Amino acid sequence: MRLYEYESKRILQSVGVPLPRGRLVASPEEARQAAQEIGSPVVLKVQILATGRGKAGGVRFADTPEQAEQVARQMLGTQIKGYTVRQLLVEEKLPIAQELYVAATYEERTKGRLMMASDAGGVDVNEVAEKDPGRIKRVHMGAWIGMQPFQAKELAFGLGLSGKVNSAAQSLFLKLWDAFVSFDATLAEINPAVVTADGRVVAADAHVEIEDDALFRQRERLGKLGIFDRDDNTKPPTPFEQEALAIDKADYRGVAGRVVEFPGNLGLLIGAGGGSLTLFDAVLRNGGKPANYCEVGGNPPVSKIYRLTKLILQKPGVKGLAVMTNVFSNSRVDFLARGVIKAMLDLGIDPSTYPITFRSAGAFEEDAYAILRKYGVRYLGREVTFEDAARAAVRMVEGLTDSQDRQDP
Ligand code: GDP
Ligand code: MN
Repeated sequence: MRLYEYESKRILQSVGVPLPRGRLVASPEEARQAAQEIGSPVVLKVQILATGRGKAGGVRFADTPEQAEQVARQMLGTQIKGYTVRQLLVEEKLPIAQELYVAATYEERTKGRLMMASDAGGVDVNEVAEKDPGRIKRVHMGAWIGMQPFQAKELAFGLGLSGKVNSAAQSLFLKLWDAFVSFDATLAEINPAVVTADGRVVAADAHVEIEDDALFRQRERLGKLGIFDRDDNTKPPTPFEQEALAIDKADYRGVAGRVVEFPGNLGLLIGAGGGSLTLFDAVLRNGGKPANYCEVGGNPPVSKIYRLTKLILQKPGVKGLAVMTNVFSNSRVDFLARGVIKAMLDLGIDPSTYPITFRSAGAFEEDAYAILRKYGVRYLGREVTFEDAARAAVRMVEGLTDSQDRQDP
């Protein structure tokens, strides 16, 4: 779950990272009051789930409370990077001596955790990584021991910091690491960490992302900080999705679920080794309109396939079915064929005339093909690419079935 800047800062605050004084506001009047309380020039920042707000006009300054009100009025309600601005963070404007970049995250290459820091903060760190990779310092952390003081020291000296600023940076690194680990974050980034004229190191911006699979144990603690699951993460399942979930849950064997409802006309049963997302993309790329997304994998029994297929075929607006998978090594293709055919027969659908694109291969494929042949369902073999299979499925529901697209059994 990606957090807003103000939420990220609540997390940092809870572990003692120094922050600018500030307040979250939703109206120009509140912005004026906030600036009044702060009693100095302020920065007003749009709270949207995107970075690069500065360049997009989402970070502005005001010298007086009246000006803050005016600027807030101009910012609230506008669209920035595709988001409507509903809230602003009004903070004291820091006197910047230097901007640092700091982030705790995971690294794919080493499959480990690390802290990165750079003295080239404030800008897009990817640019720094490309143009001047030597300016990004990295410290890799072990899996079992937290960040050690010597590692913080290594980073701070690596950035060329000295004296009071160096100590302040070390302290910030250790606290950031604490937040990263204890909140199950996948990313905890401060960009910029501002070195102030009087030698403090303050988190002027923050960006934290929490591992979704850890939310079950973080929810309570996050809730105490006023951080709640996003609507887009907690969108209640539709009745169609609920039924699919129930089918998947009713039997522990294999996956035949993870269903998402869409308004289109092409029912989908897709999967195997990343095949589901790839095939879904291929369908979209070819102008298809999926009625659903539904993964199959891990050798689900015939009964699950049967119930899901039935659910999909009965969905209003569904005009055809695409059963498409990668080459299965661990799932029986004949189970897939059996379940699909049984669902059709049950619904009184003639499999030989119903628009169906079947492209699956792997374990027990010969048995599967024999069943399909028996019921007059033509199928595509493993030599047909995802792209071609998806195109065939899309044309099929558009009523443009081309005999070339189908293999003669
Ligand atoms: P982002 O563009 O979404 O990453 O938003 P940031 O919060 O990082 O702000 C972008 C830039 O605005 C920073 O890199 C700073 O240069 C500037 N900025 C943000 N807050 C302050 C502040 O308190 N004082 C000053 N002088 N500049 C700031
Ligand atoms: Mn930033």
